[in-house]
Amino acid sequence: MEVVNLTCVECPVGCSINVTVDGGKAIKVEGNGCIRGKLYAENEVVCPKRVVTSTVKTTDGRLLPVKTDIPVRKSAMFEVMGLINAVVVAPPVSVGDVLVDDIFEGAKLVATGNAPTK
Ligand code: SF4
Repeated sequence: MEVVNLTCVECPVGCSINVTVDGGKAIKVEGNGCIRGKLYAENEVVCPKRVVTSTVKTTDGRLLPVKTDIPVRKSAMFEVMGLINAVVVAPPVSVGDVLVDDIFEGAKLVATGNAPTK
């Protein structure tokens, strides 16, 4: 059994959370200010996940900022970045447009910037 200390990144408060881990499972969570922090801490010690932000190329040579719509496994970050790097989109693109329906394990790739037609 071990106690893992985490800083919750789910909101700006940044609660310091202690998670007691036994046999690869979170058996006790303390210090979280709300249920989101409890869920974050439980996931973080078992299978940490992150929203991936990056850029993709447009067919006219620009870079468009993008992100996944949900967190993906941190352990798969290089694989996900490789998949994102292979994406090329044709303008016009607007913020919020879904560029790939399932870039990785059900996560959508979404535009976080605009690429109007030149
Ligand atoms: S536990 Fe709740 S209140 Fe604390 S940082 Fe996380 S989301 Fe914010």
